[in-house]
Amino acid sequence: MPMSAKFSARRYFLTPGQIESSSIARLISSLSSIAMEGDCLLCAAASPASPVCPPCTDSLPVLGDACPICAMPTWNAQVCGQCRSKAPDFDRTVAAWPYDYPIDRLIHSLKFRHHLELARWFAEALVAKLSLPNPTIVAMPLHHSRLAERGFNQALEIARLIATRAGGKLLPFAVERHHKTRLQSELPLADRGGNVRGAFRSRQSFAGETIVVVDDVMTSGATLNELARTLKQAGAKQVVNIVAARTLPYRETSRGHRQYEPENP
Ligand SMILES: [Zn+2]
Ligand SMILES: [Zn+2]
Repeated sequence: MPMSAKFSARRYFLTPGQIESSSIARLISSLSSIAMEGDCLLCAAASPASPVCPPCTDSLPVLGDACPICAMPTWNAQVCGQCRSKAPDFDRTVAAWPYDYPIDRLIHSLKFRHHLELARWFAEALVAKLSLPNPTIVAMPLHHSRLAERGFNQALEIARLIATRAGGKLLPFAVERHHKTRLQSELPLADRGGNVRGAFRSRQSFAGETIVVVDDVMTSGATLNELARTLKQAGAKQVVNIVAARTLPYRETSRGHRQYEPENP
C-alpha cells in the first residue's frame, strides 16, 4: 500500500458540524495549518517535531541479536559463520533496523522523494547506537554521475548530522568513487564483490585511525567491504560501519508472513 494511502481521514476532512460552525476565516486557518504542519510520513498524524511520529517509531521492526562484525542475526550475538570463515575488511557493523517495511519506504522517501528531513531522523537513531566518542566519519561515496542524477548523497546527509551530534569529524572528500558500478541490487549476490572491486580511491592517509563509515542500507556488504579495504590500504586501523538498515535472510511462514532466520550456532 502506498504511504499516501495510509492517511488519517480524521485530520484531513472537517465534519459537517465543524463546517457549519466555522467561519470562512477559521476554515482557511485550519486548512493552512494542515498544509504547514509536519505530518508523520507513515500514518499522517500530526508530528511537528519529527518526520515519523513517536508511536510509529516505537512500532518499527527490531533487529535482534546479531553478528558484531556484519550485523547478520545470530544467536546470542555471536560472530556468524561467514565472518568466522573469512573475516571481512571492516571490523564492526552497527545497524539500526532490518531493511523491511516500513524502513524500506522511509529510505526510498529520503533517496528518491527528497524527504531530506529523514536524514536527521536516521542520524539521531544512529548516534544513539554509536558508542565511539568524537568519531572520524566517511560517508559511502556516490559516483559523480549518480550524484548529478540524484542531486545529493543520502549517506553524506546522514553522516553530516551524525558528525554534528556526536562531536565527530566528517571527511566528505577523503574517498572518491571513481568507477561507476552497476547497481548492486541488479546483480546476484555472488557477483557483487567483483562489481565493486577497485571502485574507490582514497585521497588521504588514515594512518592509525578508526574510521566510521555511514551508509543507508547494507545488503551483501560487498560495497562496504570494498570501501573498508580501501581505507585499510590507506592506513586505517579499524573500520566501523554504521547503517540505517540491514537486509536479512527470511523465510515465508505457512501464513505468508516473513520471519527472520538467525544463523544456527
Ligand atoms: Zn505515525
Ligand atoms: Zn558476520
